[in-house]
Amino acid sequence: MTTGLETDDELNARHAEKMRKKQAVRDRIMAAKTIEKGLLIVHTGKGKGKTTAALGMVCRAIGHGQRVGIVQFVKGAMTTGEKAVFDAFPEQVTMKAMGEGFTWNTQNRARDIELARAAWEEVKRLIADPAVNMVLCDELNVVLRYDYLPLDEVLEVLTTRDPAKHVIVTGRNAAPEMIEAADLVTEMEMVKHPFRSGVKAQPGIEF
Ligand code: ATP
Ligand code: MG
Repeated sequence: MTTGLETDDELNARHAEKMRKKQAVRDRIMAAKTIEKGLLIVHTGKGKGKTTAALGMVCRAIGHGQRVGIVQFVKGAMTTGEKAVFDAFPEQVTMKAMGEGFTWNTQNRARDIELARAAWEEVKRLIADPAVNMVLCDELNVVLRYDYLPLDEVLEVLTTRDPAKHVIVTGRNAAPEMIEAADLVTEMEMVKHPFRSGVKAQPGIEF
């Protein structure tokens, strides 16, 4: 068979040559990336996936034998699917839900501040623990947005940590200072969400 003026063989040979060149360029680019370091990672934005993507990295870390600490600043006692999975790796991962739910559920600012403080103390303990490779501060951006914790204090701890340690911060409305301090920032964009069409939170998708 021929495509235009080229035979299939000619087309395949041209493709292989193009890919060889692409591979050479890629190899050169990858060879220039030699730094290994702990990252401050921020997932923010209005779209779904901030916590899910962070938990995906936790899974990867566990698979590599690393130790991970997860602190949930907002979620309450509701059991999530990931909790059941992580409970199977008690030597490697701890997951603490230290909030009592969304701020509009608790309606008690003093209590929210107290809980945010307790969660933050747990994060500090994990960051100070040399055996912990990765710390996930889930919804930390949300409590910072409400001024439940001083941003300066949080940034001081995050930026002076052991440089080998990964820290992931999730939640909408990340402060500009948090974005500035981070190495990797992803903003989830909401294109569609089934919530708008009346679909409720479902196991495997939301929890
Ligand atoms: P997930 O935990 O599913 O990764 P997330 O961390 O990005 O979501 P949060 O702001 O923590 O989002 O909100 C958690 C819950 O809100 C989830 O049940 C999620 O499906 C839902 N949600 C996220 N984005 C939207 C949106 N744009 N509209 C409606 N619901 C949303
Ligand atoms: Mg979330």
